[in-house]
This record gives sequence, structure tokens and C-alpha cells, in this order.
Amino acid sequence: MSRSVLMLPGDGIGPEIVAEAEKVLNKVNDQFDLGLQFETGLVGGAAIDETGEPLPSDTLERAKKADAIVLGAVGGPQWDKLEMAKRPEKGLLGLRSNLELFANLRPAILYPQLASASSLKPEVVSGLDIMIVRELTGGIYFGQPRGVRELDGGERQGFNTYIYSESEIRRIGRVAFEAAQQRNGKLCSVDKANVLEVTVLWREIMEELAKDYPDVELSHMYVDNAAMQLVRAPKQFDVIVTGNMFGDILSDEAAMLTGSIGMLPSASLNSEKQGMYEPCHGSAPDIAGQGIANPLATILSGAMMLRYSLGEEKAAEAIEAAVSKVLDQGLRTADIMSEGAKQVSTREMGEAVLAAL
Ligand code: NAD
Repeated sequence: MSRSVLMLPGDGIGPEIVAEAEKVLNKVNDQFDLGLQFETGLVGGAAIDETGEPLPSDTLERAKKADAIVLGAVGGPQWDKLEMAKRPEKGLLGLRSNLELFANLRPAILYPQLASASSLKPEVVSGLDIMIVRELTGGIYFGQPRGVRELDGGERQGFNTYIYSESEIRRIGRVAFEAAQQRNGKLCSVDKANVLEVTVLWREIMEELAKDYPDVELSHMYVDNAAMQLVRAPKQFDVIVTGNMFGDILSDEAAMLTGSIGMLPSASLNSEKQGMYEPCHGSAPDIAGQGIANPLATILSGAMMLRYSLGEEKAAEAIEAAVSKVLDQGLRTADIMSEGAKQVSTREMGEAVLAAL
């Protein structure tokens, strides 16, 4: 069976890190006979320079047809003066909305080898492995009506609408329950059901869904407590599912527990499991072209692609094990460098993962 993967390197360090991820994916493609076909497209600033558009129609058409997409990063100071609609970031947002990528999966993994990189005590975070499943296309960020209006007497009032339909909750819930099934079988649904009716419904739907997943242990937590528990005892969590706004905040909090932005992958999925896989970081223009960027977040995004869009768990695990092995070997790019380790370039890190496979 042949499956197509669209590689979108984008801007800044994007081409450097995507090149390493592609080498690694090529190797597991051969090792596990995955039948992956790779193609490359333009997005972001690179696409603006070439075509005048951050998301050329050719890229969008190919993205729709692909089984999965790996994206580097978009953006950079040279495009910051363009009007909003023409900025590189519109390429990314356009892909998310056109492909209806409603489920954002962000793991926060702290490899024991990097425990000293976190701002929390090593014993609190060492071995941390959480998956946050965030609803990405609904909730208060998209709810209508919204705006700023003028009241009688001239005072201005800002307003947004926090809204979720049953079907939106159900589809993100299913993604989260399935993620928990593939991990340690624990799902914590985060809401504010003591105050917000939307999340009373959220909680009810999660309870209903739990009947379809008897192998998953469902719990509920209010968002304020979840924020606290994430820094108090983060290892109590396996999978967390939550709405768009709470997920935005909690996933950044969880990411920072690991202390290393160059290590964190992410996935955004639609209901057909088609997905876009990208590192959590941006295009890092400050280090672009120097060959020092950490490619591991992008390589690990490739592993997520194999797991969540292509159902190739063994190949995904092989990549993750290879990454862990190179860390064991003491190899570090500059962003995760520590005393006694050996500093390597972007390419050397990619080569080391290849060798470890
Ligand atoms: P950034 O994530 O690009 O960089 C923040 C800091 O982390 C920088 O010091 C950078 O050098 C470092 N860094 C990031 N990735 C790294 C890696 N793989 N290895 C080593 N160091 C790394 O965030 P920023 O500086 O706020 O944004 C730069 C540009 O990226 C902006 O144009 C922004 O709009 C864009 N951006 C894009 C995305 C995306 O494409 N998904 C996400 C965030 C920001």
C-alpha cells in the first residue's frame, strides 16, 4: 500500500530540521516496508517569495490529497511588514482550517537524560510523559457573537461566546479516549463545570463516551486545579483532554515543564485521521542557516505521524527509541547542551538518529 507524505519545510530553520526528519522517515520506510512516498511543497514565507501567497492553491490541493503532512515552521522578520492576510502564519492557519484539523495532540515528554533542563526539581519531572489533547477549531476562540460594543452612556464592552456543540465535544473526546488506549489507559478531562454550563455538557459527553472505552479510566478536574497539579505532581497525568482555551494555556505550561523547546513534537488531526505534524517551536530566525538547530522535535513529529495517521506503531517506537539512544550517548544540540555532553550540529544529530535506528 502506498501512502503519500507532504513535506512542507517552510522558513528559517524549517528546511534544516525537515531534511533530517525526512532522512529518518526514509530509513524506517525501508526498514518497516511502509510504502511511504514523499513530496515537498511550499508554505509560509518561502511560498510568498515564490508565488506571492502564503498557502498556494497547489500546496493546499496536495495537502488535501496527502495521507499526512510534516511541517517545519513558518515566519520570519522579512515578512513581518506584510498585511495580516498575506503573512506566512496564514499558510499554517489556512492548512488547519481547510483540512479541519480539530484535534491538537501535544505530548510533553521529559527524557530522563534531560531532567536538568527543567525549571522543576528533577525528581518531579524526570520521566514525565503526558499527552494533552486540545480541541483546536471551536470554543471561545471561534464562538459567535464576539466583539467590542458601545453601551448606552458610551461605555465599551468586550464580549466573546464560549460555545461547544455535542458533536464537537464527542469527536475530540473520541480522539482522547483512543490516545489513552494507545498509552497507559488514563484520561483526565479538564473543565470548569462548577461555573460554566458549556463544560457541564462537556463533562456529560465525556461520561457518555467512557461507556464505549471500558479499558480507559476517566477522571475529571477543574482547570484551576489542573494548572496547579501540572507543576505539583505532573506525573499523575497520562492523557488530558480539554477545550481550545484551557488547552492553549495548559499545553504551554506542560511544555515548559520539559524545559526544551527543541524536543517537543505536535500533531493536528481531522476526523479521517489525516494530520499535520510539526515541532512546537517556530522558525528560529536567530539561528537559521547556522546548522545548530535541534531537529529532534521534527523527527519526533514524524514518529507521531506514523502512530496517529498511518497506524505504524512499531516504526514510531523505533524512532522514539533511537532518539532516546542518541541522548544516552550524550549527544546534544546547543539548545539542550549540558556539562559533560558532546555538542553536535543539526546534521550530526540527524545522522546519529539514523545510526541508532
Ligand atoms: P521560536 O520558537 O522560533 O524561537 C524561540 C527561541 O527558541 C529562539 O531563541 C530560537 O533560536 C529557539 N529555538 C526554537 N526552535 C529551536 C530548535 N529547534 N533548536 C534550537 N533552538 C530553537 O519563536 P519566536 O522567536 O517567537 O518566533 C520566530 C518566528 O517563528 C516568528 O516569525 C513566529 O511567527 C514564527 N513561529 C512559527 C510557528 C510555527 O510555524 N508553528 C510557531 C511559533 C512561532
